[in-house]
Amino acid sequence: MRDTLVLNASFEPLSTVTLNRAVVLVLQDKAVVEQAHPELRMRGADVDIPAPRVIRLCRYVRVPFRRQAPWSRRGVLVRDRHRCAYCGRRATTVDHVLPRAQGGQDTWLNTVAACAEDNHRKADRTPEQAGMELLREPFEPTPADAMLLALGQEDFAALPEWLARDAA
Ligand SMILES: [Zn+2]
Repeated sequence: MRDTLVLNASFEPLSTVTLNRAVVLVLQDKAVVEQAHPELRMRGADVDIPAPRVIRLCRYVRVPFRRQAPWSRRGVLVRDRHRCAYCGRRATTVDHVLPRAQGGQDTWLNTVAACAEDNHRKADRTPEQAGMELLREPFEPTPADAMLLALGQEDFAALPEWLARDAA
């Protein structure tokens, strides 16, 4: 288990993130390392830092733990790691599983990330009607997703390759 614990600026535990995500938060000056793995280092072209075990956010974020995170297109893409729910390739659009034309709503459980091609192909049809299969069911975002959204960490594709390797 190489997940990193994230503390709010107020030292309250917030969530865990992958080690790579934690390093990105530190490199972006969004968080500081509170505790590091004694023998593990993260190395890249311009980076060589101890692998953080616990990080603390530099600014306080309000994360909606108890109530549902508000739905947004950006949030759906973050939740689904910018992967198309139908083919697994990079997603840039949000698809309504039950199409809006058939009464589908903007909710976490009715929307998935989709590539433009699949979104266009599916059009105003359900996956069954279009003969397409969801690789995974939509779900409510995790506390980690809600926290990353609150931090504006939406662009997972912008991770450097060595960091992105197991960030998905
Ligand atoms: Zn696709």
